[in-house]
Amino acid sequence: MALLIDGKKISAEIKDELKEIVAKKKAEGKEITLAVIQVGNDKASSVYVGNKKKACEYIGVNSLAYELPEETTEEELLSIVKELNERSDVHGILVQLPLPKHICEDKVLLAINPDKDVDGFHPVSVGRLWIGEEGYESCTPAGVIQLLKRSGIEIAGKECVVIGRSNIVGKPMAAMLLRENGTVTVCHSRTKNLAEVTKRADILVVAIGKPKFITAEYVKEGAVVIDVGIHRNEDNKLCGDVDFDSVEPIASAITPVPGGVGPMTIAMLMCNVVKSNA
Ligand code: NAP
Repeated sequence: MALLIDGKKISAEIKDELKEIVAKKKAEGKEITLAVIQVGNDKASSVYVGNKKKACEYIGVNSLAYELPEETTEEELLSIVKELNERSDVHGILVQLPLPKHICEDKVLLAINPDKDVDGFHPVSVGRLWIGEEGYESCTPAGVIQLLKRSGIEIAGKECVVIGRSNIVGKPMAAMLLRENGTVTVCHSRTKNLAEVTKRADILVVAIGKPKFITAEYVKEGAVVIDVGIHRNEDNKLCGDVDFDSVEPIASAITPVPGGVGPMTIAMLMCNVVKSNA
C-alpha cells in the first residue's frame, strides 16, 4: 500500500511554525501586513481571498483588503499597486487572478514591486528561482517540495518527471526539483509517447489539468506520485489529474485529492508573507 502524503497535516504544521515566528517578530515590534486586491466578485476568487485572509489571521499577519468593483480601470488598479509598493507598512501585495478581461494581468503583475511579490509570479521572482537566488517562490510547486521533504522522500539523484509546463505550476516545479538536484524532464501536450517518459519517473508530478488522466499505465512500480490537479466530477466530488484508484496500488507514495497539494498552496503563500518582513 502506498504512503498517503497528508497535505492537510503538513500544511497545518507549517502554519503553526509560521505562527510562532510571527509571534516572535511581534515581540520584537515587527508587524507584517499583506495587501490582498480583488477586482469584481468572481465566486471562486472570493472563496480563495477569504481563505487567504483566514490564514493571515491564524498566523497573526495583518491583511488589508481591497475589494474593488468589476468596472475598476487598469489605470486605477495600477495606481493602487503603485501606492502599496511605496507604503513601508505594507510588506506583501497579492492581486487575485483572474482579473476582468479589460485589465491586462501581465501589466499588473509586472507593476508589483518584486520585493513584495508574495505570489512569486513577477519575472524577477521567476528569474531569481532559475538562477538560484533567494526570492519569492510560486506557492503550489513550493508546496510540492515541502510535501516531499517532510515525508522523508529524497529528491537528489532521482528521475523527476513533471507533466505540464504552465508558468504557475509546471515550469517553477521543474526549476525547484532541479535545485534539489533531481534529474528533471518536463512533458507537455506535444510530448511523444508520454507513458514511456513518465514510466521513467521515480517522482512523477502531474499538472496536466485533465481529470483522472494518469492511470497505472503511466506509472513505474514504486514511484512517488504527486497530483496537482483539482476538478469537480459529475457527482460534484473533487478529483485530481491522477486516477487514484488505479495508481495507488503500484505507487510507493501518493497525494490524495482533496487533502494533498491543495492545502499546501496557502501554507506556502503564508511562508512568502512571513519572509516579506524578514
Ligand atoms: P494549464 O495551464 O492548463 O497547463 C496544463 C499543462 O498540461 C500544459 O503545459 C499542457 O501542455 C499540458 N498538457 C495538456 N494535455 C496534455 C497531454 N495530453 N499530455 C501531456 N501534457 C499535456 O494548467 P495549470 O494551471 O498548470 O494547472 C494544472 C492542474 O493543477 C489543474 O487541474 C489546476 O486546476 C491545478 N492547480 C492546482 C493548484 C493547487 O493549489 N493545488 C494550483 C494551480 C493549479 P501545453 O503547454 O503544450 O499546452
